[in-house]
Parts: sequence; structure tokens; C-alpha cells
Amino acid sequence: MKKTVRDVELKGKRVICRCDFNVPQKEGKITDDIRIRAALPTIRYMLEEGASVILMSHLGRPKGKPNHDFTLQPVAERLSELLDKEVLFAPSDTVVDDSVREKAAALQPGEVMLLENVRYRAEEEKNDPGFSKELADLAELFVNDAFGTAHRAHSSTAGIADYLPAVSGFLIEKELKFLGEAVEDPKRPFVAILGGSKVSDKIGVIENLINKADTILIGGGMAYTFLKANGCAIGSSLCEEDKLDLAIHLQEKAKEAGVALLLPVDSKCGDKFAADCETCFADSEAMPEGCMGLDIGPKTITRYTEEIAKAGTVIWNGPMGVFEFPAFEDGTKAVAQAMAESDAVTVVGGGDSAAAVKQFGFEEGMTHISTGGGASLEFLEGKVLPGVACLQDK
Ligand code: AMP
Repeated sequence: MKKTVRDVELKGKRVICRCDFNVPQKEGKITDDIRIRAALPTIRYMLEEGASVILMSHLGRPKGKPNHDFTLQPVAERLSELLDKEVLFAPSDTVVDDSVREKAAALQPGEVMLLENVRYRAEEEKNDPGFSKELADLAELFVNDAFGTAHRAHSSTAGIADYLPAVSGFLIEKELKFLGEAVEDPKRPFVAILGGSKVSDKIGVIENLINKADTILIGGGMAYTFLKANGCAIGSSLCEEDKLDLAIHLQEKAKEAGVALLLPVDSKCGDKFAADCETCFADSEAMPEGCMGLDIGPKTITRYTEEIAKAGTVIWNGPMGVFEFPAFEDGTKAVAQAMAESDAVTVVGGGDSAAAVKQFGFEEGMTHISTGGGASLEFLEGKVLPGVACLQDK
């Protein structure tokens, strides 16, 4: 268990907190402030407890140079509105300079400031000790609340903890609780649903979950590499020829571990990869030439939703089909709906599956939707996340 802001004295302390303020913008205007809102409970708590709060984040990819298209100024303004208090913005092309140090030193308990985009400095992504120390020297305590970048060892996410005591904020605490409990102490049966385009992206997750899950349901483009490896005709569906042996190997491992690894028994196909293509249904043993499997079919939907209904825990990562095209959204929608309607602990990995759950309006029914696509994937692979490993243990 990692220490959180609740486990340390904050009164009169100068705290530097890594947030994920990487918000979408159009013409300098924030188009979705959900990430800023998500950070409010930790920020409010620290301020109420009497800390002086220095916030930092990255925004977009300024490529290690100052670039005012990626300034955090609009975030400071929005945050100020949401907190209903002044957020002092510290503009600096080098993120930290004498004027920023002065502002940080003058910050009173209950006051909050935001540094400029940490990716203005090339040292950030290199986890450079010099930059880590420059950031650390502004404060007495480091709080990490950016789960979306916790799988990266950068100066502001991990390196800084070499120079300061480090604890998590509420967002990271929540991610670790739900993802951690689901994988390490699941209510059984534990069903893992894996989809998305490529097997190669999910090898680590499948290997890790084979030792933990009771049932693994495979969908999405990656299912066709498994089906081809098993001797099925897959038409012009997505296939990674160099992963056919691996697909056999993973199925053998699942069998040895007593895990049911289910593949689609049918697909909804298109004659090309396009929203307006001609569609048809095909069983997995008999997909005609020229057909491309772009979603799981109705028989598979029934089979998979039955498994979800019986589950005690469900973890989902990766869509069942090309849900961006309405003709191929049914599999992904059905899985999301079955999860939302089940009494199981339901955890959605970030990225595309989280986007699909939001698109179809099933957010309310889920136990937890992760905020970090890459980070949640690495967590499900059983990897240590540098932004978490650097935090103090309880
Ligand atoms: P990933 O980034 O690997 O999680 O994959 C997500 C993407 O996989 C989504 O954009 C889906 O459109 C795509 N996808 C899902 N099923 C298929 C499929 N059967 N064929 C091609 N792409 C797919």
C-alpha cells in the first residue's frame, strides 16, 4: 500500500503536485475539462489542510522546447474558475527560474500556483536528475496524482521523488485500489475481456492474466490472428502473420492454467474497411474470401454476455470491433451494456474502451473507468509503474 496525502502532515508544508492537465484544446480554448475537474478533490484537500500548493503537468508535445501553443495558461484560468480562487500562473520558458522560485517561496498556506508545461524542458522526458532537483527544490513534499503518466519515468513523475518524500493523491489511490484489487484479489469468477486491433499490443496482458483470470474473452481485430492460427479462414481480416505461433502458445498456456480462453464463433464483416461498406455475418469456421471481420457476431455477443453475467469481476481492455463505425459498434456496445448491468466489480481500462463506454452512455454502471490508457495496460501486464514505485509505502 502506498502512502497518500491523508497519511502525511500538510499544514504549513510547501507541496509540489504532478497532475494530468493534458486537456484537449481548440484555438487556445479547452474543449473538455474533465481532467482538471478530476484533480480538484486532491487539490482542495491539500489547500484545506493548510498546504501551499504548486501544481505541474505536461500538455501536448512541445518536444522539449518552449512553444506557446502548449502553454498551461488556459488551464490556470479554468482551474481558477473551478476552485473559485486565484491560481497564480508562473510563466517561464524554462519552467523553473529565479522568478518562479520567488513566487513559490512567497506562496502562503491555502494558496495555489501552476508551473509552465514541464515538457518545455527536454530533460523532463529524460528523467534528468538536474531538472528533477530544480522541481524538488521548490517544495518539501511531492504528491503524484497523474495516473495517465505514471508508467513513464520522467523528472516530474518519478525522478523528483529522489529528492523529496513522495505520496499519492486521491486519483492514483483510486486507480491502484480498483485495478489492484480486481487483478490481485478478484471476486470470482474473474473474466478478462481483451480486444483492440493487435495481438502484439496485448501479449503482456494476456500472459499476466492467464495466471489470474478464470475466463478470457478475446475480440477485436486481434481475434483473427488466433482464429487463423487455429486453422480458420479469416478472409481479409486483420492478421499478424508473425504472431501465429504465439497465438497457439498462449492458448496452450491458458489450457495448462485451466483458464477458458474464448474466441469469437462468428463475426460481422465488411467488404472493405469503411463505414459505408457492404456487411454480412460469417461463422468463424467459414468466413468467405473478401470478407473482413470488423465486429464480433450475434452468437459471440450472446456467449460473451452470458460469461459477463456470471462474473464476480470483469476487467475490459480494447474494443470488440470497429466501434467508430455504427455498423460495427454492436459487439462493443453489448459488452459495455452487459458490464454496466452486471452486479460484478467492473473495471474498464482507459483508452478506446473508456471512450466507447462514454460514447454509449454506460459510465454510471461501471465500478471504475481508468483514466490512463497506457498506464492501465502496463498495470494489467503486471509491470511496475515508475510514478507509483517511487511513492512511500505505508
Ligand atoms: P487498440 O488501439 O489496439 O486498443 O485498438 C483499438 C482500435 O481497434 C479501434 O480503433 C478499433 O476500431 C480497432 N478494431 C477493433 N476491432 C477491429 C477489427 N476487427 N478490425 C480492425 N480494427 C479493429
